[in-house]
Amino acid sequence: MIDLRSDTLTTPTEAMRQAMARAEVGDDVYAEDPTVLALQDRVAETFGHEAALFMPTGSMSNVLAVRSLVQLGQEVLCESSAHIARAELGAHGAYSGVTMRTWTHPRGHVDLDAVRALHAPDMGPFFVRTAAVSVENTHNFAGGTVLPLDLLRDLREWATGVGVGIHLDGARLWNAHVATGTPLAEYGATADVLSVCLSKGLGAPVGSVLVGDADTVAEARVWRKRMGGGMRQVGILAAAGLHALDHHVERLADDHAHARLLAEACGVDPAAVETNIVVVERPDAARFVEAAAEAGVRVATVGPRTVRLVTHLGVDRDAAERAAAALARIGAPAA
Ligand SMILES: *Cc1c(COP(=O)(O)O)cnc(C)c1O
Repeated sequence: MIDLRSDTLTTPTEAMRQAMARAEVGDDVYAEDPTVLALQDRVAETFGHEAALFMPTGSMSNVLAVRSLVQLGQEVLCESSAHIARAELGAHGAYSGVTMRTWTHPRGHVDLDAVRALHAPDMGPFFVRTAAVSVENTHNFAGGTVLPLDLLRDLREWATGVGVGIHLDGARLWNAHVATGTPLAEYGATADVLSVCLSKGLGAPVGSVLVGDADTVAEARVWRKRMGGGMRQVGILAAAGLHALDHHVERLADDHAHARLLAEACGVDPAAVETNIVVVERPDAARFVEAAAEAGVRVATVGPRTVRLVTHLGVDRDAAERAAAALARIGAPAA
């Protein structure tokens, strides 16, 4: 079986396991795990921010990042298919008392006109105040699309002017970096607080990192503990992240090439595939998933008519070619 359901399905390589086994560790609740500290410093510097915090999951990282910008009863604006809106099970409302309003863009892009129209300044006891805008890069449910840097810069400039914070859900920001060549610090400069995942295409078994200024990270450290996310000798996991940053970033370009191969096989324009996610529309998505499974390829639905294919570290060129051939045999939807 070639598993294309998600890039979270990677298992640690032998070299990554060795790096994990060798990791120097300490108690990270005491901020004494040298490997965690090294990872945090490295990621903060990469994105041009003061500080960073190792997090168990991207969802917890997003929750703490958003709450650093949005107080109880205020709102965050985001695209309607954003992970924070669709796939975090209401955590921002359930834990932080944050409400959301959304704009819709077929590629998940920032729509600054829509954001401006939605924006609610502080109007006392009459309207929910907009405290932040959240953007997702690459955009998962839009199909791994890359958010154009100039739009992110325009958004940041406008937001700074009106006193609104920017959260960047960068679960797959390294994919955007490799696809476009945009330095990670330039993406970092477009947000007040970021969350990035080591457990997606980078292939670490666990881990995300929250990135921001020193005060934000200090406060997130308190909330992480409060939510039960204070971890101890977790340098074993941070070592996997450091190994991934050393060895698994440039190779994301292979995943992107493999995704274009799969797109072509499914009748999707490969030019529209920007990174490692292919969205395939079929009248009966569940039937396509079954047919693919019979042909040896695991894929998953993300809607009744939508199937998502994700390439990753666990799918080499040969596997991608075999998957493409199998999917091509399933063919286009019956009329
Ligand atoms: C995977 C993902 C996250 C975080 O997910 P966890 O499973 O909680 O680590 C956040 N945002 C996006 C866009 C994602 O794809």
